[in-house]
Amino acid sequence: MMKALVSREGKAVITQLPRPTITSDDEILLQVILAGICRTDLLVADGTISCYKESSGCQESAFGHEFCGRVVAAGHSVTHFYPGQRVAVNPVLACGQCSDCQSGNGYLCSNSGLLGINAPGAFAEYIKVSASQCYRVAESISDHLVAYAEPVAAMLSTLNCGIKPQQHIGILGSDRIARLCQFILSTEGLDVITINKEQPVDVLPVDVLIVTSFIRECLPVNLVKPGGMIIIKSRSPFSSTVCYSDIVQRRLILLGVNYAPFTTALKFIEAYQQSLMPFIGSSYPLDRFAGAFKADSAQKIFLVPCVG
Ligand SMILES: [Zn+2]
Ligand SMILES: [Zn+2]
Repeated sequence: MMKALVSREGKAVITQLPRPTITSDDEILLQVILAGICRTDLLVADGTISCYKESSGCQESAFGHEFCGRVVAAGHSVTHFYPGQRVAVNPVLACGQCSDCQSGNGYLCSNSGLLGINAPGAFAEYIKVSASQCYRVAESISDHLVAYAEPVAAMLSTLNCGIKPQQHIGILGSDRIARLCQFILSTEGLDVITINKEQPVDVLPVDVLIVTSFIRECLPVNLVKPGGMIIIKSRSPFSSTVCYSDIVQRRLILLGVNYAPFTTALKFIEAYQQSLMPFIGSSYPLDRFAGAFKADSAQKIFLVPCVG
């Protein structure tokens, strides 16, 4: 058995679950070294997003998807990984069937699932994944930064949107996700302001508005100049309204972005290890998840399932 954090009737609870075992040749059993807490996890915890158990009728399982693992065992066809090795894991479960997956661009898959929602997750002592999701990482990269690869892959998707250096760029919000996005764009020489409701109106509107937060009200099209672009990088589970006549009259481009390749995120983390350290916050034992969930969200907070 193993200790795991599950979402039960809108509440996160620690429970004991069977330790996963290898049942197919391409699988890897990992011990979870540590796992980051994402805003998506908080929505799974409170039942806003329903996870594996409810959606599949299977046994309840851990949630959590941003983690660093250590190989415990591998299936017969796994050749690149060996027990004791530390790995990064891409938690995105690409469908393998769509045209993007078939052309080798699984990171663009529009039918993808996520570990911790569509399959057992990382807030547990052990997790079983496919070898195709695992990546070797340089020794110099800390466990915390390895576990930070998924949010970096998500925010790297805001590059290559055709933003030009001379454009006035704004990010809605100033939380850690907005600041990570701001940092990533700064590495490409793009100067980005964070926009809060308190922001003086004279710096607005912008040419490009990036939305990384969950919007519950109307999309604020008035923050964008006519002919400008709104980049949506948050899969809000809440419905919000879009005023189509404003979009048409202001000739706005609405662009959704999802992920950059996971390997791009790992290279980015290796190159910017020092600069990314301020985004890394405290670690809590899994048992103390309640305190971790309430902790200051200005930095990424981690859970450590195997203590001692
Ligand atoms: Zn995440
Ligand atoms: Zn696909």
